[in-house]
Amino acid sequence: MAGSGETSNIMDEGYDLYIPLSALNAYLYCPYRAYVEYVLGEWEDNVFTIEGEIEHETVHSEKERVVDDSFQTTRVFVKSEALGLVGQIDVVEERAAEIYPVEYKKGRQGRWLNDQVQVCAQGLCLAEQLGREISRGYVWYMGSRRRREVKFTPELMAATEKACRDLRALYEGAPVPVPAYRKGRCDPCSVLSFCLPRETAILRAGP
Ligand code: SF4
Repeated sequence: MAGSGETSNIMDEGYDLYIPLSALNAYLYCPYRAYVEYVLGEWEDNVFTIEGEIEHETVHSEKERVVDDSFQTTRVFVKSEALGLVGQIDVVEERAAEIYPVEYKKGRQGRWLNDQVQVCAQGLCLAEQLGREISRGYVWYMGSRRRREVKFTPELMAATEKACRDLRALYEGAPVPVPAYRKGRCDPCSVLSFCLPRETAILRAGP
């Protein structure tokens, strides 16, 4: 997961498990990848993750800054007691009377809900910490240089809460997801070399 900066370790506090925000992204991208990276703690960088880390270092180079008419704070650590989540937000932006998270991603918007769910979860953490309502966030795609608005609709919030529940179940021993090869998803995946989804499918199919 490009630029997460979050470890696969789970904090052991009030909740039995505090799930990293970036694990939600991994889970929505591919449940097996979340299992490998966050439950097993196996992590391997590839060219895509390293590029992502470098680009995130640029985003985080200043702790605070003013951009046009907004005030930005970078690398903001957040936690939700309600959802048992912990992690960081690339940028928290304040503009007029509004405050919202901005997540930076390498590349372009994909076909999965992973980035929207991650920024929604960030918004839920921030709202809980600040005691304020937060109705939207943004994802900035470095590849297309486009900032996409993510509205925290009831449907997206429900999907976010479901992902939290499903991922927590995985940590607690739910059946391991079966890896399945998909071209656009698996080729840039950092755990492709030991996931081996095509080979696994052949073995599962049997002789
Ligand atoms: S290689 Fe494909 S199936 Fe395996 S973890 Fe990555 S995205 Fe999932």
